[in-house]
Amino acid sequence: MTKMGQASDCIFCKIAAKEVPADIVHATDAIVAFRDANPKAPTHVLLIPREHIDSAAALGEAHADMLVEIFLTAAHIAKSEGIDGSGWRLVTNVGPDAGQSVPHLHFHLLGGRGMRWPPG
Ligand code: 5GP
Ligand code: ZN
Repeated sequence: MTKMGQASDCIFCKIAAKEVPADIVHATDAIVAFRDANPKAPTHVLLIPREHIDSAAALGEAHADMLVEIFLTAAHIAKSEGIDGSGWRLVTNVGPDAGQSVPHLHFHLLGGRGMRWPPG
């Protein structure tokens, strides 16, 4: 750990600390939302806690306020992106089978196109 709650080699900690550039669409003391570098949909925003948490598997009750903020912010961004009427998806991947490639908790906000269920 470097600064409080940060992991030294984590790309998303660095984005939250503005040490690595990203297209940030929303930021507060607790969370940051930025556009995915390799978007899978017309709207593809990642919402992360500033605190380094490996994945949803490491969440505890102390994270409740942060999680509520992430969900409310996702709905807010969906509205500002104009996809609140067409629909959107909020997903988090945990571990290899789910395809998690960055070990810092993040929620994908996806929208602007039709999506299949279940995901492949
Ligand atoms: P995961 O596969 O872990 O669920 O999602 C990681 C996401 O982070 C991927 O969609 C990937 O495109 C995105 N990503 C990885 N590195 C960066 C980066 O440096 N900047 C941004 N904006 N997105 C990134
Ligand atoms: Zn991190």
